[in-house]
Amino acid sequence: MKRKYLWLSVLVFIALLFSVPAYHLLKTKSKETGLPARVPKGYSDDASKLNQTAIDTLIKVETDSAALIKQLRELLQYARQNDLKVSLAGAKHSMGGHTLFPGGIVVNMLPYKHMYLDTLRNILHIGSGALWEDALYFLDQYGRSVAIMQAFSSFSVGGSLSVNGHGWQKDVPPLASSVKAFTLMNADGKILNCSRDENEELFDLVLGGYGLFGIILDVELHVVRNQALRYKYVAVSAKNYLDYYKKMIRENPNVDLVFGRLRISGKGFLDEAILNYFERTSEAIPPMTPKEDQQLESSRLVFRSSVNSEYGKRLRWDLERGMNKLNLNTVFSRNELLNDPVSMIENKDSNSTDILHEYFIPVRNFNAYLGAIKPILKASRIDLLNITIRAVQTDIDSYLNYAREPVFGFVYLFNQLKTPEDEEAMRELTNALTDIAIQLDGTFYLPYRLHVSPNKMRMAYPKADAFFALKRKYDPEERFDNLFYEHYR
Ligand SMILES: Cc1cc2nc3c(=O)[nH]c(=O)nc-3n(C[C@H](O)[C@H](O)[C@H](O)COP(=O)(O)OP(=O)(O)OC[C@H]3O[C@@H](n4cnc5c(N)ncnc54)[C@H](O)[C@@H]3O)c2cc1C
Repeated sequence: MKRKYLWLSVLVFIALLFSVPAYHLLKTKSKETGLPARVPKGYSDDASKLNQTAIDTLIKVETDSAALIKQLRELLQYARQNDLKVSLAGAKHSMGGHTLFPGGIVVNMLPYKHMYLDTLRNILHIGSGALWEDALYFLDQYGRSVAIMQAFSSFSVGGSLSVNGHGWQKDVPPLASSVKAFTLMNADGKILNCSRDENEELFDLVLGGYGLFGIILDVELHVVRNQALRYKYVAVSAKNYLDYYKKMIRENPNVDLVFGRLRISGKGFLDEAILNYFERTSEAIPPMTPKEDQQLESSRLVFRSSVNSEYGKRLRWDLERGMNKLNLNTVFSRNELLNDPVSMIENKDSNSTDILHEYFIPVRNFNAYLGAIKPILKASRIDLLNITIRAVQTDIDSYLNYAREPVFGFVYLFNQLKTPEDEEAMRELTNALTDIAIQLDGTFYLPYRLHVSPNKMRMAYPKADAFFALKRKYDPEERFDNLFYEHYR
């Protein structure tokens, strides 16, 4: 009899073990209100979903090069005659109105995405509207891969150059370092070749120049070989992260991709970390297959279930730890690993929005930074969803440079309600985190919300005034404009 009850309680325990997480995920799904309404005609917005702005016109560009040039020249002439501002938009994943201006023209560059690979020189010629996803599928046929890109593949090449993005490729500088050259249409409709040998100043200004100097048309990018990569991870205490990074990553020539994740739940809050890395192997490269909808939706739900839920945050951490164990030593294609769409984390609750921050902290101040952010994050009412860590090497190319020495990028994803109270709380949090970064000789990343004052921005970017003066030198009528420029100029 006793034994029967023992078995029964074991069965109930097992059922509960599986049903509680399943119930939590189902509850998450059922609470989603659905995607926010589409941006109405005559308006534009960006990934923040907080910048809906009335505009004059949205222009979708031509796909063919000659037609595109003619179209853009006419557009610039029209803008000049009617004194309209012109803003450039790629995938619009920036969050501070970087792609729009009230009453202005928004140029959607996405259709311009031709590609050609020079296999001898390993140079990809690509239209600035192409997404990384397009580039990865194209390069895969030739056994090549994108050298440097962000952690998701849903961004455009032109937008990525203009923020000078960076990703999780091991110990490389930001994207600018992989750009050989590009052509730029200036406000007069003239096309300029920009490289390290021609129009060098413009080359540096446009990379991380937020669309203020002209329209990037055709880009030449250095590409690398696609690789088979074997997954590894190590769970570390955050205070030992640097030591492990040095030993397991920096001194390991086989590592190609790497990122760290900090624990954001429970007692281990910011004390535990996972270092995920991928080592080159001589095994055959698995084929690059599109991720199945089911697979994307499961990852998305696990991620979304952590919003405003300590249980969900712990569940996500535990499930990811489980997946780490399952995937240990699995071999992936580099292209496949780089090809993650942002829909993997998509927020389908129209009352709230997800906001990114990123701070670049010199390697020498890594541990001091970890200690300083803990009380700030704990005190804020804003819900923290994720912190990843990536190393970025010194950038010697872009003018408005955020990696002036080797740094670690701390990428935060927060969820906030679309209310004045949460907007104010987000402003306070952003400023507190920015102050810490500046005190520790670091910087903050510019594609996000405009909660930092122009004065504080200049403390993080000492060359900002010179950058804006050069903007006026190259574009005296300030034809290319957006909310980023209006805020910080
Ligand atoms: C979920 C998420 C994850 C992110 N992850 C990363 C990351 O891992 N690493 C990272 O560095 N950043 C990251 N970002 C930040 C950043 O917003 C993106 O890197 C950026 O938005 C890239 O491309 P886009 O096509 O969306 O650019 P957009 O937002 O469309 O544009 C960005 C800027 O580029 C200008 N621009 C666009 N096209 C052109 C053109 N053809 N000519 C001239 N100017 C142009 C725009 O005017 C604007 O100022 C992330 C953002 C989100 C929302």
